Amino acid sequence: MTWVYGFAHRHSRAPRDLKALLGGKGANLAEMTSVLALPVPPGFTITTEACRAYMLGGWPGDLTAEIDGHVRSLERFMGRRLGATEDPLLVSVRSGAAFSMPGMMDTVLDLGLNDDSVMGLAAGTDERFALDSYRRFLAMYGRIVLDVPGEPFDDLLEQARIDEGVRTDAEVPAERLDELVGRYKELIEAHTGSPFPQDPHVQLRGAIEAVFRSWDSPRARAYRRREGIADDLGTAVNVQSMVFGNRDDQSGTGVAFTRDPSTGASGAYGDFLVNAQGEDVVAGIRTTLPLDSMADLFPAVHTELTFILERLERHYRDMLDCEFTIEHGRLWMLQTRVGKRTGAAALRIAVALTEDPTIRISRAEAVQRVRPEHLDQVLHPQLGDVKAPLLATGLPASPGAAVGHAYFDADRAVEAAERGERVVLVRQETSPEDVHGMAVAQGVLTSRGGLVSHAAVVARGWGKPAVCGAESLNIGPTSMTAADGTVVAEGDWISLDGARGTVFLGELSLKEGNVPGEFGIVLGWADEIRAGRLGVRANADTGPDAARARELGAEGIGLCRTEHMFLQEDRLPVVRRMILADDPDEELAALAELLDVQRADFEEVLEAMDGLPVTVRLLDPPLHEFLPSVEELIVLDARGELPPEGQAMLTAARHWQEQNPMLGLRGVRLGIAKAGLYRMQVRALVEAALRRQAVGGRPVIEIMIPLVINLPELDLTRRWVEEEVATVLAEHDGRLDVIIGSMIETPRAAIRADDIAQAADFFSFGTNDLTQMTLGFSRDDVAPILESYLEQGLLGVDPFKSVDQRGVGELVATAVERGRTTKPGLKMGVCGEHGGDPESIAFFFGLGLDYVSCSPFRVPVARLAAAHAVLGAGGGVAADA
Ligand code: PEP
Ligand code: MG
Repeated sequence: MTWVYGFAHRHSRAPRDLKALLGGKGANLAEMTSVLALPVPPGFTITTEACRAYMLGGWPGDLTAEIDGHVRSLERFMGRRLGATEDPLLVSVRSGAAFSMPGMMDTVLDLGLNDDSVMGLAAGTDERFALDSYRRFLAMYGRIVLDVPGEPFDDLLEQARIDEGVRTDAEVPAERLDELVGRYKELIEAHTGSPFPQDPHVQLRGAIEAVFRSWDSPRARAYRRREGIADDLGTAVNVQSMVFGNRDDQSGTGVAFTRDPSTGASGAYGDFLVNAQGEDVVAGIRTTLPLDSMADLFPAVHTELTFILERLERHYRDMLDCEFTIEHGRLWMLQTRVGKRTGAAALRIAVALTEDPTIRISRAEAVQRVRPEHLDQVLHPQLGDVKAPLLATGLPASPGAAVGHAYFDADRAVEAAERGERVVLVRQETSPEDVHGMAVAQGVLTSRGGLVSHAAVVARGWGKPAVCGAESLNIGPTSMTAADGTVVAEGDWISLDGARGTVFLGELSLKEGNVPGEFGIVLGWADEIRAGRLGVRANADTGPDAARARELGAEGIGLCRTEHMFLQEDRLPVVRRMILADDPDEELAALAELLDVQRADFEEVLEAMDGLPVTVRLLDPPLHEFLPSVEELIVLDARGELPPEGQAMLTAARHWQEQNPMLGLRGVRLGIAKAGLYRMQVRALVEAALRRQAVGGRPVIEIMIPLVINLPELDLTRRWVEEEVATVLAEHDGRLDVIIGSMIETPRAAIRADDIAQAADFFSFGTNDLTQMTLGFSRDDVAPILESYLEQGLLGVDPFKSVDQRGVGELVATAVERGRTTKPGLKMGVCGEHGGDPESIAFFFGLGLDYVSCSPFRVPVARLAAAHAVLGAGGGVAADA
């Protein structure tokens, strides 16, 4: 086993493809050195395999010898020696994992300095520079390698500044730095019990081990958990000769992008500083100069750098970012990688690179270069500079940013909005009684509830930013308290980032989403790639939502939640009357009232989706979402404020109250309990379709039954639907094809999909309920459990965000297989929230589903992710230009 490779090593494959072994940084350093022969300070990479071996069984026995060999070659190549008293070699030791983990692991610079070599460095540069480098190295090494707390180093430096009456470190004179070096060494010895190691080889081993260990630091682990990076990959370590941008005015350092990473505009972009080190650029203390001004200050270097950037972009066929240093007028490339970019830049660059004659990526590659987050960024507003205090973190329930005054009650939120205020609705959880407040809010914040709780589903459906399940917040009726004791009163400003799940105190600036023209181009290519392979529909319940979904590219409606039509304030009482009615006449009267509004709603939806399939789900209200709360009614009663019909309502509400409403009288069970209900809905739908036909429309209707557990249930309700369709068509002498399907959202339905398929023309997987029932996690109460499960690594991802492939996914796979055994080619889609999650989309495509359906604002992401899924499965060649 080889543990160490020089940057110049000739690998059998392109080093840039060896990220798993060399880490991202090491792979690109090797590519620049061995393939492109660019001026890279020489060095070597200790592989991720070595790190994994170290984590399993400690320092590999033969590693030291390999490192020593590479150090000797480095010394020969550079003509300098580690620790030499004259012109010593200094190296940097940096982590570099296969996936970028910015700032999560450790770096040691200026390694090789000791009491002798600092003199050598001083002789070659100047004394102040050498002593300052030594001081920095001691502090860095002490902190990172020897676990000495950082503050005492800082305190000593600060004291030096005060004593010398200077403002910046750069003004501390050499004598004082010399004294600091002594104090730093004493500090290290006092803390570790041994003197600071003068032997550079000991220093090097310590630094490499520290980088290995930093892979397992709590912040690195937390970062990996957030980003879904496995814990057992390990990091590579890069040891590289140091070059100094802060030697003199013929030196400098900077960062360059091959294109503008924020707009995507072509041409090199970046900034640099004369006579400075990388950390000065990053620290932002000195004002950097734009790259263009290098043309005046360092004309030859500027020409060379421009040439290198073009060469790199042509070679990698993508926008790159690079760090470079100029030492005594000579250019060195310190690293390169594919550059991070904003959503707008990602779209522009993807399209531009298909047209660039020297690069010409294919359309499929262009589609692959754009990530779902990029689309979120251009579609939704984003928070500007985030400098405000973080109040809490919750689940990233609906992307985009919202800034507004906190209101803790829907009615008061509406009043404030009517006064012209921007509001954020803050509730422990939301219910249908809050939707008018949600409708006027910029965003929604809850402390309970998971990613498919009411607040999350409704907010996503409307494209409103939301953070849910921020359970560290104690949300009361008129204020909330954060974990650190901060109290937010009604009317105080708060800001949310729904893509990150973060909540800030105060009014942060907002950057509006801005959709560039390339958005449509890239999504058009994505559609070509997925055409005939994976469809994308929307979950939409009203005409305007359906119209928006269509604009965003939906190819139909995969789920029209008819109960959402009933949530509007004027309809809720009628629905309640229907649910609570205990005599048939009352029920019929309520149903008749609902028929009119429902028909009108359906007409609007069918018009918006004319010619495309609309899957209407018959009513599925978990009763608790529709009934007034018994507690509230009791309070009103005690205060004597119960309205005249209230007493009956209270009695009925008590009667229907359930301990587990999510497992209660909902879905098809409610349809069976209220026999007239489904017939009314079918009548409304068919009449709406006939009205659409009468004005030249082409309605396409699919009816589906929710929460089915067995064939007899579906047989019975299917018969009702068929009878009602036939009756209405006969009454109007109409013609209309209606197909009838089953939702698969109970584990039993998935397992007995072979039976259920006998009475189903299609399946639609309701993975929200299927997840709830398979894992036994209540959708509405899961937040605190999930938080600790994710933190402790008991679950890798939130199963309501990304489908639990080995559990719920098995059930879906079983249902696909058994359903199609009964009916080959049975059409199947998914309409749970997972239908908008890229990872789940790829999984469902792999199982052979025909379409996914998600909230309207998620449709572009689903179109892109569906194309990625097809490409990931080796498809999409036809779309290449
Ligand atoms: C589901 O359960 O996945 C589903 C789509 O239905 P709902 O979220 O309305 O329960
Ligand atoms: Mg459901």
